[in-house]
Amino acid sequence: MKVSIIGIGSVGSAVATAVKNTGLVHEIVLFDIDGVRARASAEDLGHAAAFSYDVKITAASNYRAIRGSEIVIISAGANQKPGETRMDLLHKNAAVISDIVPRVMANVDSKTVKLVIVTNPLDVMVMLAQKLSRLPASRVIGTGTMLDSARLRVILSRSLAVSPQSVNAYVLGEHGDSSFVAWTSATIGAIALNDFCKQTKTPMTQNTRATIERRVQTAAYEIIRGRGATWDGIAGAVADLIRSIINDENRILTVSTVDGIGKKAVAVSMPRIVGKAGATKTLVPQMDKNESAGLRRSSAIVRKNFDLIGK
Ligand code: NAD
Repeated sequence: MKVSIIGIGSVGSAVATAVKNTGLVHEIVLFDIDGVRARASAEDLGHAAAFSYDVKITAASNYRAIRGSEIVIISAGANQKPGETRMDLLHKNAAVISDIVPRVMANVDSKTVKLVIVTNPLDVMVMLAQKLSRLPASRVIGTGTMLDSARLRVILSRSLAVSPQSVNAYVLGEHGDSSFVAWTSATIGAIALNDFCKQTKTPMTQNTRATIERRVQTAAYEIIRGRGATWDGIAGAVADLIRSIINDENRILTVSTVDGIGKKAVAVSMPRIVGKAGATKTLVPQMDKNESAGLRRSSAIVRKNFDLIGK
């Protein structure tokens, strides 16, 4: 399996390490418009490969090098500076995606390739990449709220004193400020969250829920304030997604893909079944009226911003 990564900044290089460490790929191409950066990253990661799996890691500043890739991960473009929102990156990164996607498509097999989008604002970039690539929506997959859901699971697991593996809870909607926690469908093991709280005598008030939700929504801002950017969490999310695709695991992941057609088309995160053919099935969990309103709000924000880029 050959995988290419476009954009080898903080995120792209962490993603490259995480993908290498899955042990599932035999070749990784690191592409960046900054060829010096791509070469240095390939050199460094190539040395690390000597300690683990035998993966061929090459640098590229010419798109011909990505030929034969079955998965192309796009992590190029501007990142948030302290105080900026993801949507502040809209026009800059729409230009980056518009530059990259046609070049990628000219060098891959459109019948099978999967695009994994990481660049923010994530959901709008998924819509743009899907439109430019003309690939089926199931094969243009944004990491969406996988990272937000992971943050939620970790925070909840700590307050409930259980493993994050036993927390089944989703953040849905936009990968951005309008994301929301789908509390109604949250379970711990197979026990509804409310029942779990009763049985273990760990009450969870509305205030506690609101605090948890806020911590999840502001996590990226806190990390960016402290270390300038975020990269480890998203690298873990991409590796998880790639694993589900390559192994055809059919895992349920909160990825972002385009649903609907024409003016109604929008990409937001919902639980989706992800395997070798991509994100093939969207699932709709039970939601109360606030959560349903949250989903409508997220969809409207993403659609409005997609219209703003005028593509
Ligand atoms: P960075 O500035 O460290 O790296 C960006 C890289 O993209 C640079 O190496 C740059 O040369 C390259 N690049 C820019 N334009 C290009 C083009 N046209 N073709 C090829 N390469 C190009 O930024 P970063 O911290 O790595 O973040 C990258 C993106 O990932 C940002 O949009 C950021 O917001 C996003 N991000 C998403 C998530 C998520 O959960 N989806 C999490 C973290 C970061």
